[in-house]
Amino acid sequence: MERTTGTRRKLNWLLTAAAILFAALLVVLCLLLRPKTGAPDRFVIHFADGETLEIPAWETKTIVIRDGRIVDSATGEGDENVIRIENGRAWMEQANCPHHECMRQGALTAETVRSRPLGTWIVCAPHKVYIEFAGGGQ
Ligand SMILES: [Zn+2]
Repeated sequence: MERTTGTRRKLNWLLTAAAILFAALLVVLCLLLRPKTGAPDRFVIHFADGETLEIPAWETKTIVIRDGRIVDSATGEGDENVIRIENGRAWMEQANCPHHECMRQGALTAETVRSRPLGTWIVCAPHKVYIEFAGGGQ
């Protein structure tokens, strides 16, 4: 009887140890399989009304925004911004805001976000149009 209890206790201990090991292994596996954090991978356009539009960084696209909404082509009327996305770069190609500050802010790329004064953002304050380089674990 004593011996049986001892064996059972040992078995319980072994099972517990195995369960703990298995859990630890799972945690390690999850950490290993976690997607690697890297460069930003998408551009997010923020509109004046708080709406956003996400575009994968590898797409090639010209986006024309007039008075807070996307339109087919630029006419120079209203509050207009033309955003260009190409080969992982995004920049304000055209804007009829007073000082064209947004156009002067250069291109957002995986390299320039480290050194630009505005980091991952291009800001057109007068038109409340913002481009954000997002993703990469940020
Ligand atoms: Zn602007």
